[in-house]
Amino acid sequence: MDLSRASVRQGEALRLFVRTSAPASRVDIRFAGRRWPAYRAGESGWRTVLGTDPNTPPGRHTLTVAVSGVGQVSLTARRTVTVVRVAFPRREIAFDPALAPLLTPEAAERERRRVVEALRVLHPSQLWADPLTLPIEGKVTSRYGVLSIYQKQVRGFHGGVDIQAPPGTPVRAAGRGIVRLAEPLPLSGHAVLVDHGLGVVTSYLHMSEVGVRAGQKVGRGEILGRVGSTGLSTGPHLHWGLRVNGTKVDPMPWATR
Ligand SMILES: [Zn+2]
Repeated sequence: MDLSRASVRQGEALRLFVRTSAPASRVDIRFAGRRWPAYRAGESGWRTVLGTDPNTPPGRHTLTVAVSGVGQVSLTARRTVTVVRVAFPRREIAFDPALAPLLTPEAAERERRRVVEALRVLHPSQLWADPLTLPIEGKVTSRYGVLSIYQKQVRGFHGGVDIQAPPGTPVRAAGRGIVRLAEPLPLSGHAVLVDHGLGVVTSYLHMSEVGVRAGQKVGRGEILGRVGSTGLSTGPHLHWGLRVNGTKVDPMPWATR
């Protein structure tokens, strides 16, 4: 198997290519305590992108790839991937009391289900070209991975970056892809999710309006919506996120490579 790297910092991703001599009918990929989807790459192999986040334990992890075909014995390959600890900043969260009614477990669950449903089927090959481009220009006011402390306990991490910009600023697709969701969500406000293939999905949240539809193909730089402050937001900004097969990773290394 080909791995793009053997060591990643928490919040970084790695790309995997598994070469198979005969057409394999099943590839089972396990890393960091979960199973990862595999996408067929022609007759010769399979591809995927793996991600880590602040909850991935630092240290040595075994990446296991089990390949099986019709009438074949299954083959298992293992590699060690080192996850390096990152000292993510912490911040006490203090919500605007006016926004508190939005933050209910029911609303969070409704949003989670909607996103899972929208991302159920993803494009099996790579649509984007490296590097991605930033969706807007502006000051990053909150970086990826910042740990939210509420009543002295870590309640989660910031799953993307917040970029400040005047309301109405056009928000552009970071790369080529297919819009999978374009609608208001309870917490994320007017949101767009773009599928770039191989499980790579970028998110654009808290916009004032959305200018695309689910199912639409978009090119890099195409306008998806405009900067706003909808949903659980305290001022005009864009939350830009990137998930790889469900794991929220830091989008910035993807745009600066
Ligand atoms: Zn944010």
